[in-house]
Parts: sequence; C-alpha cells; structure tokens
Amino acid sequence: MKLHDVFKRLDIDVPLVNAATWDKVGPLVVPDGDASLSTILLTVDLTAAVLAEAIDKQAQLIVAYHPPIFKPLSALRADQATEPMQAVVVNAIRSGIAIYSPHTALDAVSGGVADWLCDGLGDGTRTGIDPCESNASSSVADRASARDDEKCIVSVHVPQDHADDLREALANIGVGKIGNYDGCSFSFDGLGRFSAGEKSNPVVGIRGDVTTVNEVRIEMRCTRRQVADIKKVMSAHHPYEEPAWHLTPLLPTTDRGACNKIKGSGAHAQQPITAYGRVVTLATPVTVNELCARVKTHLDVDYLRVAAPEHIQNGSSMISDIAVCPGAGGSPFDGRQHACYLTGEMRHHDVLSKLAQGSTVILSEHTHTERGYLPIYKKRVHAALGSAMNVHIATTDRDPLRVI
Ligand SMILES: [Zn+2]
Repeated sequence: MKLHDVFKRLDIDVPLVNAATWDKVGPLVVPDGDASLSTILLTVDLTAAVLAEAIDKQAQLIVAYHPPIFKPLSALRADQATEPMQAVVVNAIRSGIAIYSPHTALDAVSGGVADWLCDGLGDGTRTGIDPCESNASSSVADRASARDDEKCIVSVHVPQDHADDLREALANIGVGKIGNYDGCSFSFDGLGRFSAGEKSNPVVGIRGDVTTVNEVRIEMRCTRRQVADIKKVMSAHHPYEEPAWHLTPLLPTTDRGACNKIKGSGAHAQQPITAYGRVVTLATPVTVNELCARVKTHLDVDYLRVAAPEHIQNGSSMISDIAVCPGAGGSPFDGRQHACYLTGEMRHHDVLSKLAQGSTVILSEHTHTERGYLPIYKKRVHAALGSAMNVHIATTDRDPLRVI
C-alpha cells in the first residue's frame, strides 16, 4: 500500500479535522509519498530509541501519538545536541521513514483515547466536553486566533421595511458565507414589543408607551472576528437606537455533545461522541477510594495523585459526575463545574482552584492516560489498513519519568 493511501485511510478512521486547531496532526515527515508500505511502528513519543527500533524493524512509517514536530524547527541538523528532534527527523528522512501524528484527533474520535479513559469508570451516561481550543502548549496568539475563528449565528430583529437593507449590508461584509455560498440568511416575521424609557429617543413609538412593531428576525452565519464589523453595520443600517441583536456560538458540525448510555468495560459505541474530553455520569455514585481503585485497575498503574475535599476523602459523600481528559487537563476544564476531574496532569494552581470549588481532582500522570490506548489503536490501524499490514507497538517507548 502506498504511503499516501495509508494517510487517507488513517484519516478516514480518525478524522484529522477533529483535531484542535493548535495541534500539528497528520503527515509530518514524508520522504516519498508513493513509497510502498508494509510495516508501521506505533508510539506515544518519538525518541531516538524509538527511531532506532523503527529502523531495526524495517518500518516505513512511525505513527507517533504526540506530534514530534510541534514548534517550528529552526534547522535540520543531525549534529544539533540541544535540539535532538532535529536529528530524529534527519535520520528518519535518511532512513526513508515517514512520520504521522493523530494526537487530539485520536483523543476526540469515538472509541478514541478519551472514550478509553472512561471505559473503566463504571456504568452510566457519557457526554462530550465541547472542544476547547486553549491548551497549556498553545500560545496566547493561537488561542486568540481559534476564538476569532469560532463560528456563530448573528440574530437581529429589525422592522420589516429595513430588513432587506440590513440583510444586504451584512452580506456585503461577508456575513452569511457557508462554503461556496454567500449572503445565506434565514428570516421570519414576528412582533417586536418594547417600552421606551424616559431618556430614550425612539425612532418608533412614544416614550413610556408600550409599542409593537412588525419585525423580521434575520439569522446569518458569522465568526467572532466579524463582530466589530457587524456592530458598524448595525449602527449604519439598523434604524433603532438600541438594535436588538445577539450572537450564538455554534458547536462544530460533528456529533460532539451527544449523550450516550454506557456500560463499563468499553461498551460505549452506540452513539458516537467526538470531543476532546468526556463527562461521565455514573449510574451508581461511588466513593473516591472506589473510583480510584477502578482507575488504577483500568490504567494498570500503582498510584494516583488525588486532591479531594474532606467529605469526599472520608467517604461521607459520593462521586457520580466525572469530567475526563487525556494528557494535560486544566484548560479543557476551564469554566466547567464537575464533582470530579480525571486527567493525567494539571497545573498546581488549577488543582487548588478546583479543590476550592469543592471538586475532586484525580491525576494519573500524563502518559498513563495515553499509552494504554496503543493496543486498541493498533487494532484500529489494522482494521483501517488490512491485516496484511505489519503493525508494531514500540517496545522502546516509555514514560520518561520514574518514581524513586
Ligand atoms: Zn499527551
């Protein structure tokens, strides 16, 4: 199978479009897209040892969960000791080995890393945590850019005889663009009702009276980036002193947020969820000790780090509401309120903040929330590419941290 075909099939199984906008997913190193491929090495982290293993196993592709090239490389020098990833990339190219990363797309996909993390928690329902474009490793500029690109609906109520003018003015600044179609809108008639205050200067009606006006509600697609221009259009084309309009953010048009009844042990695939994290609501609340025992068994780890309020710690209160995120939780949980957070790592002050809100935080270490998924990913890759493809899990890939 040619490398380009492999990339296509991997993308069909785990759509890269679901990755975070700050992420660097997909083909990262492609020495020859037409090269034939028979052996793949899966790893969480691509290190020099993993590359050596790939060469030894005659793999033509390394699928690394974490993107090995994340920050732009300043050079490609095999002798650059301070930036060892440069040497890994040079040596991969020299050996004709391609590199591909699914990262947050694999977290998000149904049956992916986030779902796997939930699988050991117990019976209950599962929903998706909306995608959060902020991340500890993303820059402020990245986050601002992602927020600017957020798709919204602008809804405005305007007197009927001004509707066409306003609709056209919004279209002229690019509002209402959907794919290759411009000026898309939906309008419906209704009755506006207001009472102008003493300091008002109403265009229609009299101060103090209740006024009703035949209005049109116009709805059009936009992004947050366009809001400043929309305000200018409202000011120029809407006749009211205080135009009635609002913005509604849109979820991406995937099945994020779908609610899904689950049984423990991974039977979760009836209604797929696509989101970077999950919220599990257990059918039967459990003590924190029981929950931690389940997590330790599922992840096959010896210890967890737990911050819990006294009433949770002593077992007088139980937990049923658990927000889950692979890797580094923290910003994906911003603005959310849950009884418990399960993730790999979280910044100290984020832990303190959650604890102060009365929540429990369970940390299992970063890669413990990821590495155990590789055998499942191996099955997915086999299913996507066919059983003739040799797929290995790197034996040299391991958590760089040791507890001593
Ligand atoms: Zn990670």
